[in-house]
Amino acid sequence: MLKNQSNSLSLDNPISDLPMIGSIQANKLKRLNIERIKDLLYHFPTGYSDTRNIISIEELFKEGAGTIRATVKEIRNNYTRSRKVITKAVVTDTTGDITIVWFNQSYITKVIRPGDTFLFQLKLPKNSYARNFYCTSYEKVLQEQAHLGRLTPQYDQTAGVSSKWLRARLKYLRPHIAQLIQDPLNEKIRNEYDLIELSKALTMIHFPETENDIVKARDRLGFDEMLELALRLETRKKSLKNKKAFPILTSDKIVNEIKKQLQFRLTSDQESAVVEILSDMKSETPMNRLLNGDVGSGKTIVSIIATYAAIKSGHSVIVMAPTTILANQHYKSFNEILEPLQINVQLLTSGMMLEPISGPQVIIGTHALLYEKYIPENIGLYIVDEQHRFGVEQREQLKEGEGATSPHYLTMTATPIPRTLTNVIYGDKEVSLIQEMPQNRIDIQTKLLTGKKRTACLNWIHLQILEHPKENQAYIILPLVEESEKSDLKAAIQVYEELSQGTFKDLKVGLLHGRMKDKEKQSVISRFKKQKIDVLVATTVVEVGIDVSSASIMLIEHAEKFGLAQLHQLRGRVGRGDKPSFCFVIPSDGVEQTEQVQNRLQFFSQNSSGFKVAEYDLSQRGPGEVYGTMQSGIPSMKIADITDIKLFKKARLLASHIILGK
Ligand code: ADP
Ligand code: MG
Repeated sequence: MLKNQSNSLSLDNPISDLPMIGSIQANKLKRLNIERIKDLLYHFPTGYSDTRNIISIEELFKEGAGTIRATVKEIRNNYTRSRKVITKAVVTDTTGDITIVWFNQSYITKVIRPGDTFLFQLKLPKNSYARNFYCTSYEKVLQEQAHLGRLTPQYDQTAGVSSKWLRARLKYLRPHIAQLIQDPLNEKIRNEYDLIELSKALTMIHFPETENDIVKARDRLGFDEMLELALRLETRKKSLKNKKAFPILTSDKIVNEIKKQLQFRLTSDQESAVVEILSDMKSETPMNRLLNGDVGSGKTIVSIIATYAAIKSGHSVIVMAPTTILANQHYKSFNEILEPLQINVQLLTSGMMLEPISGPQVIIGTHALLYEKYIPENIGLYIVDEQHRFGVEQREQLKEGEGATSPHYLTMTATPIPRTLTNVIYGDKEVSLIQEMPQNRIDIQTKLLTGKKRTACLNWIHLQILEHPKENQAYIILPLVEESEKSDLKAAIQVYEELSQGTFKDLKVGLLHGRMKDKEKQSVISRFKKQKIDVLVATTVVEVGIDVSSASIMLIEHAEKFGLAQLHQLRGRVGRGDKPSFCFVIPSDGVEQTEQVQNRLQFFSQNSSGFKVAEYDLSQRGPGEVYGTMQSGIPSMKIADITDIKLFKKARLLASHIILGK
């Protein structure tokens, strides 16, 4: 039966080992991420159509639509004068005859022959005078139907690969499933967790007999997805637990040395985060903690205190940031506080070299750090900022170079992550939460405008800057410059030209976008900081890491192109000083009235808490869309809902039993 002769079909075999799948089909299947036999089995239906109810021709006349079981009396092609083909068949059951028509499918007469008995899914077109039925699906009556007379699965399709075609391939695979699949969960566990056997679940998801089959199959397959995640978390947790870290001992005196340098007092959330981190770091087991806080809530200073404590106990610290801009920003913040305390802080981004220094030191950089050979050995603390921007691969790499002793790990989020997700994605970590904003903050006023108000808004911004030069600076934010942007999107460059020659021609306008070299970017940012630029037209490169407290106005164009979490992150660039700040959001013409866009942006403009915004975004778009599956390390789940805490807890329980061997 199989092409490769040997009878041993295995899950990892290429899909082309199945009959009827040649290289052309195999290539098409790649588009659905189906390359191996396993992938086909795990290409789950997106839904089912129920054609189990077979009706008689008499009933069909009354209903106007339905599935019948009928024998073909005659079938033939008729050609019109314009050489179109109309195929007509007369079919019959015990209650009567009907005529079915097809257009331009002359091959049908080769598939459906007089005397055959078929299932036909039919409907009467509207206003049909002739009372001829149209056929949406047909299948010869067999011992086992694949397409009709059952709960028929519907699949994601691609050109040349239809649901019907996939069903036929799966039908071929069906008798092999039991032997292909070995259930990693034994019967005892299955009973304990109320799960059906895996091969049964995989059979039932593609060939359900009842709705309950679908439920049972999904329960099992969804559990497996969650279990995979839970196992990863438990493995990571255990591997760190088995490592030894340098205990980092601190005292109030050390913390106070930093506090003395600040012009503000820590918020109580910041205080508790510091206490939690310092207490973790005292341990011989590596800390693995997430600092989850709103934009502008002051996570950096918390990490600086942890850094200082590590240095004081004789260990070096690495701070890793996702972008060069952010690495520079951190370098500045860390250096400002640590240099007066005679701590050596170095910046390392791509193309730079580390100066070999002896003794405890702070190294701040981008992922270029991962490839650096001269990293000091006595790393006591590893700080990773905005982790969800790192690819999973890099993260694994980061942990590999550890050796016998492991540093303590502190991860900081870019945007606040809702609790439902921290539980699941950061389940291997302890969490410190900073919810409260520093007291001197005045809420940013966010206003949703229509495109008609754009000119008025720009004029208003112009006025603010003219009236209080040096005190007011503004950002104009645009979506990324894309190479093949044919739409009417105003690319940053275009807007820059429009504004610097128009509304803002008496002001200094700057431009910042992702295509510029790092050096150019740095120079623009530093001119903006020094107030040599009044208005900065920028793409999302400003999203993180720009801390210019005199910038108090932001206008975001084509706002619907951004996710809410991203908008919130952008908005966090203003309101960093102590004067009232404004954020205007304008959606593109043509979409501004759509309900979904309105609702989303309205919610954003009325809520200043990043946690709330993120929660809303998550509920609207799902985690994959919001955080990007690959980037965030959020596993993509086909069946399970990643925010299903109950399911997660169940899977976690089993995972810990498996990993700890209990
Ligand atoms: P984020 O949490 O987004 O990383 P930052 O650490 O960059 O926020 O802090 C934002 C700004 O708030 C910085 O300029 C920082 O100096 C300031 N800041 C931090 N903590 C406080 C505080 N307790 N009171 C006043 N300002 C603070
Ligand atoms: Mg930050």
